[in-house]
Amino acid sequence: MSTLLLNADMQPVSLLPLSVVDWQEAIRYLVLDKIEVVEWHDDWIVHSANWETRVPAIIMLKDYQKPKHTMRMSKRNVFLRDQYTCQYCGTTVTDQTATLDHVLPVSKGGKTTWENSTTACKPCNYRKAAHVGKFKPKLTPYKPHFWDLVEKRKKRGFHYQHSSWANYLE
Ligand SMILES: [Zn+2]
Repeated sequence: MSTLLLNADMQPVSLLPLSVVDWQEAIRYLVLDKIEVVEWHDDWIVHSANWETRVPAIIMLKDYQKPKHTMRMSKRNVFLRDQYTCQYCGTTVTDQTATLDHVLPVSKGGKTTWENSTTACKPCNYRKAAHVGKFKPKLTPYKPHFWDLVEKRKKRGFHYQHSSWANYLE
């Protein structure tokens, strides 16, 4: 993903997940005259037989889009709510090492809801599935408030594709 998409008020269109598009989409927006380019990538040029263009690093919608202040119940958002901490042993996890654990297992009728989903490291998830030991998450799972989750997302930091993104994400 190459390009940060800002709303007409210069705020990201979305933070959960972050509104970023790939260069093809950024150029499509440009051709359709829906955006203004705020920043360009320094040395990134794409071309076809007939044209060439630099790739925008940040684009801004010309028409204000009403932001959606809602979040999906997703694995990543559960990890974010739990601040990437295994709720059974307290170890720090990443998107690669975390698993979404159903507190009440699916096999016993547990649903994939905010209230039944927690963050577990792989060893804990495995031990829990094998019924070894007692398992109760440190934090009772809950549906977070949108802005709390946004704060946690900002605290984790974003992976900038261009240094100028910092001006809009900090
Ligand atoms: Zn664990």
